Amino acid sequence: MREVPIGQVPLSPYQDALGEERMSRLRSGAGRLGQLLQGRTVWNINSTAAGGGVAELLHALVPLARSAGLDVRWLVIDGDPEFFGITKRLCTRLYGSRGDDGSLGPAELSHYKRVTDDNAAGLARFVRPGDIVIVHESQPAGLVPAARSLGARVVYRCHIGKDVPNAHTREGQAFLRPWAEHADASVFLTARHVFDWAPSPRVIPPSIDPCAPKNMSLGPEETLAVLSGTGILGSGHGSGLPVTLPAPVGPQVVVRRPATVIREGPPPDPSVPMVVQVSRWDRLKDMTGVLRAWTEADCATTYLTLAGADISGVCDDPEAAEMFEECRSAWEGLPRELRSRCQLVCLPMDDLRENAVVVNALQQHAAVVVQKSLAEGFGLTATEAMWKSRPLLASAVGGLRDQVTDGEDGLLLDDPTDIAGAAKNLRRILGDPALAARLGAAARRRVTARFLPDRHLLDWAKLLEDLISKDGT
Ligand code: UDP
Repeated sequence: MREVPIGQVPLSPYQDALGEERMSRLRSGAGRLGQLLQGRTVWNINSTAAGGGVAELLHALVPLARSAGLDVRWLVIDGDPEFFGITKRLCTRLYGSRGDDGSLGPAELSHYKRVTDDNAAGLARFVRPGDIVIVHESQPAGLVPAARSLGARVVYRCHIGKDVPNAHTREGQAFLRPWAEHADASVFLTARHVFDWAPSPRVIPPSIDPCAPKNMSLGPEETLAVLSGTGILGSGHGSGLPVTLPAPVGPQVVVRRPATVIREGPPPDPSVPMVVQVSRWDRLKDMTGVLRAWTEADCATTYLTLAGADISGVCDDPEAAEMFEECRSAWEGLPRELRSRCQLVCLPMDDLRENAVVVNALQQHAAVVVQKSLAEGFGLTATEAMWKSRPLLASAVGGLRDQVTDGEDGLLLDDPTDIAGAAKNLRRILGDPALAARLGAAARRRVTARFLPDRHLLDWAKLLEDLISKDGT
């Protein structure tokens, strides 16, 4: 168990992004909660400081909450490959898929318990009676009883689920239940994923950080410099690496490392419309499905980029390498002409700000952003693309349905496995610039209204206030 060091951030860039009125509501909400906390700490616990949606959220919210005067901190659990293999299986089952053939039986339970007990011993070094502990996801969910026995109030936050539960989701939930049901409250990203035994459940959708390297505004020159510098676009736009960019919060972002790109032929020219999906290399993100849909769409003037984190950089995701290899063979199996208009991109994770700004540039540059997930918790990649006014094509699953109203601020694919439907929608957006612009502008308005961090922090403040005041302590 280790703490992720988090500093404070200046609030003025957020004032610029959110406006004075929203900032002052945020300040008074944080002030109210601060008085109730009376020096107690709010601990977030998850399994990795880098990669995936939970880490993304915590990097955005924890510094902002601290700057608003709250003692919010972040712990990361330890685990061995076997433990992360089990929790990966657990996550896949909670998403409603079988995934691998492995079981979640007594042997897995006993290993999960052993690693949890080790982490519980570490937790005792940090948590004091009266603190609040928020466990994010299945990996640290086993810590709920331990945190309670240390005298903390505990919230179990579930970031995943399946819209219509099935035998796999029930198996995953049954595995978690002995621990997670002891939480004082539970939080879900969407009402569709609330477990029937969830303790005092509440729905709090996530948010993106408008001042972070992932979402800060990039000019066209900066976008091209980043993408050509990293080898994702043809060169001749900028002067190679490093590319240095000022950031609204934190030090300047320096892009030093090229991406690892699997491609045949020259890099795409910036003038070629690019279809982009950025995701973890995970079966449920269906990168190969995107490849098939783009192939079927037969958009001869476009280029497809499938991008994800460098597979050696995300230690809690043992299946990533396997999935990447699957994508590579699908790519190798394409007819030559199509293969030369499609690339697989692995983005280095050594420097998270550098990684984030490359994702930003890719989303910014995209003619269409796709998120063709087979199941999804919320789908922050969609929120990020919508914030950049990109036309989005997303599967109608999980939180993607909460974000997108079909035909208004993006297009939804009713059946996420429908390749012909995805191809048709791709052609529709690519062939109609007015539609693309209208969807993109509405997408930006949607994120501004619902998915920025002030709304998110205030929702959490309300939950924590209710928890603290429930029994008057
Ligand atoms: N992401 C990233 N670098 C990458 C690939 C993904 O920072 O190379 C980020 C992505 O921008 C998003 C997060 O990882 O913020 C993924 O969150 P999402 O909710 O879309 O899916 P999850 O990975 O949690 O299932």
